[in-house]
Amino acid sequence: MDQLEDIRARIAKSARIAARKPEAVELVAISKTHAAEAIRPLLDAGQRVFGENRVQEAEAKWPALREDYPDVQLHLVGQLQSNKAEDALALFDCIHSLDRASLVAALGKAMEKTGRKVPCFIQVNIGAEDQKGGCAIAEVPELLALARDAGIPVVGLMCVPPFGIEAAPFFALLARIAADNGLEQLSMGMSEDFETAVMLGATHVRVGSALFGARPKN
Ligand SMILES: *Cc1c(COP(=O)(O)O)cnc(C)c1O
Repeated sequence: MDQLEDIRARIAKSARIAARKPEAVELVAISKTHAAEAIRPLLDAGQRVFGENRVQEAEAKWPALREDYPDVQLHLVGQLQSNKAEDALALFDCIHSLDRASLVAALGKAMEKTGRKVPCFIQVNIGAEDQKGGCAIAEVPELLALARDAGIPVVGLMCVPPFGIEAAPFFALLARIAADNGLEQLSMGMSEDFETAVMLGATHVRVGSALFGARPKN
């Protein structure tokens, strides 16, 4: 799989420039909208960590793939409705989109009920954009405290910077907020900017179109 090798090499190169270990960066292959036939070549090439943005779509695609590749790790990178918290918990191994108190309550309850806990990232609306998901920067400490009270393992922060402008300042800002709050992991960087994100400390890059090609329009 040429694209996969290319992305891995670029992650490794950016990590080395920043005096980081390439292994410290997890490549999350974002397979949303792509069918199982498009995902299998990556699985065959050894990729095991994938991301989806919709619970229902992931429920339709992944159980069959997981039968063949039981060591797959599935990450949720899209907005999660509170009433789907339990379904999401059953399917995903990591949640990148914890962004509000009502979801913290629902997810905490689901974790307590099922006894299954998965690492979570608090999503931050890093560019203070009106329509964008994520909590406000000022709300991070409070949401983190709520999540800890609810028994949710929060491991880091996640962001999607504003579209079409230089992402580096937003990545640097997310890294600083994480450090201020004692959080070690950073989910940041997509197809257009993952190298910059790696240089600025990303522990998880979420790469879709650079691996799979453009997403089909529906
Ligand atoms: C779709 C998506 C990605 C991947 O975007 P590409 O530009 O295709 O790499 C990353 N993160 C989130 C939250 C997404 O929804």
